[in-house]
Amino acid sequence: MPSLAQTALLSTDILPVRCPACGEAQNTLEGAADPLAEKAQVSCMVCGYVFGAAEYRQLLAQRQQEFALLQLGQL
Ligand SMILES: [Zn+2]
Repeated sequence: MPSLAQTALLSTDILPVRCPACGEAQNTLEGAADPLAEKAQVSCMVCGYVFGAAEYRQLLAQRQQEFALLQLGQL
């Protein structure tokens, strides 16, 4: 059973999304272990910006796409 105190996404496979307010890609997760869960709230570790659920999904999709392209580029 993982600790309930876990708030950073660093230990998961999920990519942090870039904050539209400060540009940092460091997220905190509250309310659930899965950032895509209904009760989950993802916010920016740096400035405290809170991502909306739809906004987070969109940013995550973009981020995963960028990451995939980056990996292709390194081959
Ligand atoms: Zn921020």
